[in-house]
Amino acid sequence: MTQNELGIFEQLESEVRSYCRSFPTIFTKAKGYKMWDKEGNEYIDFFSGAGALNYGHNDPTMKKKLIEYISEDGITHSLDMATTAKADFIKKFNDVILKPRNLDYKIMFPGPTGTNTVESALKLARKVTGRTDVISFTNGFHGMTIGSLSVTGNAFKRKGAGIPLQNVVTMPYDNFVNDELDTLDYLERFLEDNGSGVEIPAAMILETVQGEGGINAARFEWLKRIEEICNRWGILLIVDDVQAGVGRTGTFFSFEKAGIKPDIVCLSKSLSGYGLPFAVTLFRPDLDIWEPGEHNGTFRGNNHAFVTATAALTYWENESFENEIQEKSTIIYDFLSKIVKDYPELKGEVKGRGFMVGISSEVDGLSNKVAAKAFENGLIMETSGPKDEVFKLFPPLNIDKDGLEKGLQIIEESVKELTK
Ligand code: PMP
Repeated sequence: MTQNELGIFEQLESEVRSYCRSFPTIFTKAKGYKMWDKEGNEYIDFFSGAGALNYGHNDPTMKKKLIEYISEDGITHSLDMATTAKADFIKKFNDVILKPRNLDYKIMFPGPTGTNTVESALKLARKVTGRTDVISFTNGFHGMTIGSLSVTGNAFKRKGAGIPLQNVVTMPYDNFVNDELDTLDYLERFLEDNGSGVEIPAAMILETVQGEGGINAARFEWLKRIEEICNRWGILLIVDDVQAGVGRTGTFFSFEKAGIKPDIVCLSKSLSGYGLPFAVTLFRPDLDIWEPGEHNGTFRGNNHAFVTATAALTYWENESFENEIQEKSTIIYDFLSKIVKDYPELKGEVKGRGFMVGISSEVDGLSNKVAAKAFENGLIMETSGPKDEVFKLFPPLNIDKDGLEKGLQIIEESVKELTK
C-alpha cells in the first residue's frame, strides 16, 4: 500500500528528491529516537534529520513550551522586530553558552537555514576585509546556494550550479596531510611569496568534523595551525558548525576542545532543538560593521524556534549532559570497533568524534547496502563521503542506553547478513 502511495511523489514531485529514495516509506509519527510509518512499522532513528534533531523528535519540554506559546497567541512572525521570545533566547544563549566559554560574540539571525548562515559569513568576511577570495577544503559541505556551494568541495553537488563557481581556492583537508605533504606549509609559502600570485584571502571556511564529506575529524593541532595562519595573515576563520555544533561532537561548539576561537561561527540544524528552521551567525563584536538593512530576510528569527531553542538550552545548564554524551559515545566507539574487528570483510575503519561517527568501508557500495539493510531491519541511518563509503551514526544525544544498544545491534545484524 505504501509503495502505491509513494507513486504520488514520483508523479508530482521533482526528480531531485533524495532521502525518500533511501527510506522508501511514508512516515507519520515520531517521538524521541523512534519514528513510525503509515503501516505502523517502528524505526530507530540514527539519522536525526542529518543532525537537525540532536534532542530527538518532539522533546516533551520543548513541545509543552511551544503549545503554551501558541495557545497564548504568542507572535509567530515579526521579521526582526523585538519580541519577548527573541529576548529570552538571546539572554539564555549568552548566559548558558557564550559567557561560560568566555566567548564574546555578537549574535545575528541570518535567515532560516544552514545555507543562510554560511552566506552571511562569506558576505561579512568580504565586507570586513575588502577582499574576495576564500579558502575552503576538500570534501567540505556548506550548502546549496551559489555562495555556499562555491566553497563546497564536492564536484557532484557543484555540477548542480551548471557553471564553475569563482573566487575559491580549495585546499586539502586535514585527512590528506601526511609527513611528505604538509599543505599548510605550502599555503604559507605561497602567501609569503608575492610572486606566487596567490592573493590574501578574505576567509577560510571549514567544518572541524566533515559531516557530508565522510565524517572526517580534523586533528586539533591542524585546527590550531589554521587559526595561527589566519591570525598571521589577517584572514577571517569561519567555522561552519551547522552539523558538528550543538553538542554533536560532545561539546556545544565543535571547536571547544581544539582551543581555537573562530572569528565567525555558523550554527543551524539542531539549534532550534525541535527541528524548526533556525540559524545564527556569531561574530567578533568588531566585525559588526553592516549598516541596518545590509543583510536581512523575511524569515530570519522565527519566534516558534526562539521558544524551543530557549527550552533546548536547558540541557546545557546541566553539567552532566556533556558527561552523558561522552559516556554514550564511548559505547558507540567500542561497539563499532568490535564490528570492524569481527567482520574483516567490511574492510572498515571507525571515524569521527563524539556522537558524530561512522564506519568507512573500502568495499565499493557496501556502506549503502548496510544502510539499506539496516532500514529493512528497522533502523534509519544515512551514508556520506564522496563515494558514500561511510555509514553514518547520528543518534539523538539524549537517547537512552537501551535505544542506543538496540540500534547498534541492528547495525551488527545488518553487517552480519551482508558479509556471511
Ligand atoms: N553546512 C553544513 C556543515 C551542513 O552539513 C549543511 C547541511 N547538511 C549546511 C551547511 C547547509 O544547511 P541547510 O541544509 O540547512 O541549508
